[in-house]
Amino acid sequence: MQPVKDIVIVGGGTAGWLAASTIAARHQGRIKAGQFSVTLVESPSVAIIGVGEGTWPTIRTTLKKIGVSETDFFRHCDGAFKQGGKFSRWTTGADDDFYYHPLVLPQGFHQVNLAPHWLAANDGRSFCDAVCAQGVLCDEGLAPKTITMAEYDGAANYSYHLDAGKFAPFLQSHATGKLGVRHVLADVIKVNQLENGDISSLDTAQAGTIRGDLFVDCTGFAALLIGKTLEVGFKPCSDVLFCDTALAVQVPYDRPDAPMASQTNATAQKAGWIWDIALPTRRGIGHVFSSRHMSDDEAHSILAAYVGPAIKDRNVRKIPIRSGHREIFWKKNVVAVGLAAGFLEPLESSAIVLGELSSKLIAEQMPANREIMDIVAANFNEVTSYRWGRIIDFLKLHYCLTKRTDSQFWIDNADPSTIPERLQNLLKVWKYRSPWFFDEFDRLEEVFPAASYQYVLYGMGFRTEVDPYELAVDEKLAAQYMRQNITSSFRMRSELPKNRELVDKIVTYGLQPI
Ligand SMILES: Cc1cc2nc3c(=O)[nH]c(=O)nc-3n(C[C@H](O)[C@H](O)[C@H](O)COP(=O)(O)OP(=O)(O)OC[C@H]3O[C@@H](n4cnc5c(N)ncnc54)[C@H](O)[C@@H]3O)c2cc1C
Repeated sequence: MQPVKDIVIVGGGTAGWLAASTIAARHQGRIKAGQFSVTLVESPSVAIIGVGEGTWPTIRTTLKKIGVSETDFFRHCDGAFKQGGKFSRWTTGADDDFYYHPLVLPQGFHQVNLAPHWLAANDGRSFCDAVCAQGVLCDEGLAPKTITMAEYDGAANYSYHLDAGKFAPFLQSHATGKLGVRHVLADVIKVNQLENGDISSLDTAQAGTIRGDLFVDCTGFAALLIGKTLEVGFKPCSDVLFCDTALAVQVPYDRPDAPMASQTNATAQKAGWIWDIALPTRRGIGHVFSSRHMSDDEAHSILAAYVGPAIKDRNVRKIPIRSGHREIFWKKNVVAVGLAAGFLEPLESSAIVLGELSSKLIAEQMPANREIMDIVAANFNEVTSYRWGRIIDFLKLHYCLTKRTDSQFWIDNADPSTIPERLQNLLKVWKYRSPWFFDEFDRLEEVFPAASYQYVLYGMGFRTEVDPYELAVDEKLAAQYMRQNITSSFRMRSELPKNRELVDKIVTYGLQPI
């Protein structure tokens, strides 16, 4: 039986280096014994995409597992804390229209569903504020931890904002320096296949031929192995998610100690939305829009109005977006991770997390030999297809609950024919019962659990009917958790430092290593 022991990753963007580090960290023993190798081939002339600056809390587990120091991460990646998303103008478009999708679960989430109790109370508090502290922490620009907490620990759940141009080189230095990943700077110019379609080796322009047993396609939108070589089709979802273009710009602060938001701001516009990500040295801002509903010029004017005079002399980069994913992700001895696997608009920072989860699955389920690879691949395809499908549903939820009718973009988004059937059915069910953690979200690593649906639904004014008999079942427990939330929100608000203050301290003094 042909063993799988030489792994070749093509592409040195965030996806490539995360995949290389995750696989190499998981198989360190075999690498050190000389029985396994991880090689990353990267073109010296094709630049990485260099956007993708909002992450999901899984990134902490990933970085910890591959042995990265959190202090080093902050020092080298222009990192800042992220505690969720603030969605403004998505429901009515009015100035006071906003809600948070925080990163913490509602209090006592595994014991009691607070949603019906909040609905019944109808006391004017937002769902987010009634069930967790994170909206308040974001309102005040606070960090999720203090300097005395160990690396990766937090008083509240968190992820990061980071500089995409710095993150990939940071991972590269860790993967090659500490994990034994071999780095080859070369253009792949020819892909050699066996009779059964498997890839046997890659011819490069600068480094000769590189053979491997398993190839991970991280070539970004080029999809060199999965798309061009193995001709796996692309499943677009532009009939559900209409945005197909991004205009991205980096904007300096007007002063070095300007406040730094603790959440990604996503502000809805006439035919799309604007992201605003705060890093210690600059903000990353981008207008994602539907070219079917708006011209580039109008989209640029909207972005300029949002940024203000600071946009003058800044380079505004236009990035086409093709929403969708591969029909399958692992074919023969090739598995796609990152943009090569697909892309959905960055509304909930779902791309890097999908890359992390795919890399983890490959590392954990690494087939021992070629004979069992197709079985592992079938499982990988099933799990990964499920994940993409659920993320499409979740992104569409942000659009289809809108009450905006001020442009064709919003009218089209609420049209039932553009809403996936599974989501339509769930929305019908949720009129009578709120989403709950067993409710259709029962996978081990669900990217967006039922709590995420609750935050968006109730943030956007969705109402679920409340049955008084159901309420009575856990009324006391619910009241206890709601009270607990008031106390812990008050305590955290008084104890936690500002986002910028803590990041500055970490960069200067460091966190307690784990
Ligand atoms: C506008 C926009 C905003 C985004 N925002 C977010 C966000 O907030 N959060 C998030 O999680 N994600 C976001 N993403 C997605 C995120 O940027 C990507 O998922 C992430 O950067 C991974 O990219 P990648 O490594 O797959 O591809 P790339 O960075 O494009 O890397 C491709 C690599 O392949 C190499 N390559 C290509 N062809 C060859 C060849 N022939 N030979 C050798 N090497 C080759 C290149 O040199 C490069 O190293 C965003 C994406 C876009 C477009």
